[in-house]
Amino acid sequence: MSEHAISRDDPILVTGAGGFIGAWLVRYLQENGFTQLRAIDIKPLDEWHQVMDDADNQVADLRSLEACRDAVRDIAHVYNLACDMGGMGFIEANRAACMISVLINTHLLMAGRDEGVERHFLSSSACVYNIDLQRDSDVTALREEDAYPALPEDGYGWEKLFSERMCRNFHDDYGIETRVARYHNVYGPHGTYAGGREKAPAAICRKVAEAKLSGNHEIEIWGDGQQTRSFMYIGDCLYGTMRIMESDILEPINLGSSELVTINQLVDVAEEIAGVKLERRYNLDAPKGVRGRNSDNTMIRERLGWEPSTPLAVGLEKTYAWIYDELAASAPARRAVVSG
Ligand code: NAD
Repeated sequence: MSEHAISRDDPILVTGAGGFIGAWLVRYLQENGFTQLRAIDIKPLDEWHQVMDDADNQVADLRSLEACRDAVRDIAHVYNLACDMGGMGFIEANRAACMISVLINTHLLMAGRDEGVERHFLSSSACVYNIDLQRDSDVTALREEDAYPALPEDGYGWEKLFSERMCRNFHDDYGIETRVARYHNVYGPHGTYAGGREKAPAAICRKVAEAKLSGNHEIEIWGDGQQTRSFMYIGDCLYGTMRIMESDILEPINLGSSELVTINQLVDVAEEIAGVKLERRYNLDAPKGVRGRNSDNTMIRERLGWEPSTPLAVGLEKTYAWIYDELAASAPARRAVVSG
């Protein structure tokens, strides 16, 4: 294994820095001693999940090549986390919008090539995997080569798969060092938990917390609850992202937990944390995504000697606590009634 340690003084760009993972990444890099951080997102600053005051925070639409040229000027390393995305509810209803994010990665690569960017990281997704391999809850974990022959999720998955190849070909043709991690379901505090873009762990934590706060002990579950997934805690995602960026791994690599659970088990864990038992209603018409999916971590273990290992119960406890506090703070009157 060879590693390329990135100097703490190198200028770094994080795109999507107002989003869940991007905002955490800026914070993580800052906490790890990186001093020159540019953080860009399309959203106004007051909508960013977290804002690091010491970073060069900018608002820009990175679908435009011109904006990308400005963004990468004097930058050595780019972490591209910008994307128009969300959980299944969002991506199944917004396929075209998801595909347009291809402009962000493409224009960042073109601008990076012209402006002398050394390294470019793409946050890809487990949605690139062939859907025919994900039709059973009793899954065989997905290995990196299972992305081909290609039959990814229609829209978001195709965008990521194309962007992965774009990275590879920009490396081969122009010499820019590209790194690609395929994230599998990331969750943690400061994530999206309402509004339509939230993913299963945050949605379940919110529903359980709402039930606890309101005293209405019911929960709606999308699908029959038997669909399986693995969920990676944000701390593992950040550590793995930096390790992959600093590695010599050119091929796309899984970055995900291999702790497989059904959605019912995810609800069990959240109920246990909250100390409630809820009546479950299954909405079989809701978006469900693939039937089963897990991350095969053979490659990351071999290449980095590490894999994400935060147990779901540990990560979800922190996530639940944060979401509960957010909800309680936004409805203090309701909390007073419930706990009184
Ligand atoms: P997020 O939606 O919270 O963050 C993405 C950010 O990109 C948002 O803040 C959004 O405003 C910004 N953005 C969108 N269009 C933009 C544009 N044109 N210009 C500038 N910024 C723009 O999502 P996230 O969960 O933080 O995901 C970050 C990355 O990781 C994304 O690329 C996503 O596809 C990938 N990923 C995430 C997960 C997960 O479970 N969260 C799983 C697989 C892959």
